[in-house]
Amino acid sequence: MTTSFNPPVRRLMGPGPSDVHPRVLGAMARPTIGHLDPEFSRMMEEVKEMLRYAFKTKNALTIPVSGPGSVGMETCFVNLVEAGDTIIVCQNGAFGGRMKENVERCGATAVMVMDDWGKPVDVAKVEDALKANPGVKAVAFVHAETSTGVQSDAAAICALAQEHGVLSIVDAVTSLGGTPVLTDEWGADAVYSGSQKCLSCMPGISPVTISEKAADVVRSRNHKVQSWFMDLNLVMGYWSGEGARVYHHTAPINPLYAIHEALVMLEEEGLEQAWARHAAMHSALRAGIEAMGLSLIVDEAYRLPQLNTVSIPEGVDEAAVRGALLSRYNLEIGAGLGDLAGKVWRVGLMGQSATGEHVTLFLSAMEDVLSEQGAAINTGAALPAARAVLG
Ligand SMILES: *Cc1c(COP(=O)(O)O)cnc(C)c1O
Repeated sequence: MTTSFNPPVRRLMGPGPSDVHPRVLGAMARPTIGHLDPEFSRMMEEVKEMLRYAFKTKNALTIPVSGPGSVGMETCFVNLVEAGDTIIVCQNGAFGGRMKENVERCGATAVMVMDDWGKPVDVAKVEDALKANPGVKAVAFVHAETSTGVQSDAAAICALAQEHGVLSIVDAVTSLGGTPVLTDEWGADAVYSGSQKCLSCMPGISPVTISEKAADVVRSRNHKVQSWFMDLNLVMGYWSGEGARVYHHTAPINPLYAIHEALVMLEEEGLEQAWARHAAMHSALRAGIEAMGLSLIVDEAYRLPQLNTVSIPEGVDEAAVRGALLSRYNLEIGAGLGDLAGKVWRVGLMGQSATGEHVTLFLSAMEDVLSEQGAAINTGAALPAARAVLG
């Protein structure tokens, strides 16, 4: 007979999911109620309000979309892009490639602005593309590229979009809660995120915020959105104010309790304090990594604190290292993707995984496993270096 599944308890320091706090897991276990129950509606309103806080926006259309980050991404594209449109898509890693796929599957044309993996989006090239392609409807880019650990200049790209009178679509899956996402200040039109990165909730919910201008574009489309499930014209009826809710789909009730709790925890800590914590833990990790003789491949000017791409020393079997970290220390880190496969490890310091304990566990475990593999590293230096930063 099949028995219950009891997962091991891991420390999650990869590209997501991050560690989920017991308070969030506990919230998930509370009694399931009806998704049109007035108490559930009350909770939904609080989730929307707390998401506005996290996104730094007043956008009325700010909701937790039912599905992982990819559904948030697709929601933005299928609603804002119609067949025949032209969209500028910036690609400097894995996720920009998914944006291109989304645009093309909407029957639109993607004008690509390409930059190397490990580099940010080149703002000057975006401007050239806007000048060379009058009639473009939107510019889409990834704020925090989880495949490389690079942050692009969202303020500058959104400002260019506004200057040219086009919409901006921003992937903030890895940035929300970890580094500043300033939706209203940037003038961003559509921003989507995920629950399992710096918000430290379980995967399956995608926070999305849409500006009034973008909501008007959705309302005045020439053709119905090809996805019934993601059609914001219908979803808006479900997520709109008290008393007016119309059944669209059954919301994932218990995961919404979980994101409610994760957002309560974010408010308790304070958004700015959460950003500062991610930056401080990154500094400690970096000090330890460099003292060990390893390096971060991304330039400091545009390096993400919550996703660190660490170079693999000569002669080391990178998969064996990840395997040993997992089996011996219950510690998960990520492999390189795409152009960086086999060249880097991806070490996440996201949400609840951005603590001094995580940093020191990673450094000591890594030193143990790399020494065993005979890698040329400095032993005994990483922890004192990290501790000097942690205080
Ligand atoms: C993780 C991630 C996604 C996809 O989110 P899922 O929850 O895995 O669907 C999209 N964009 C970026 C930048 C990500 O890091």
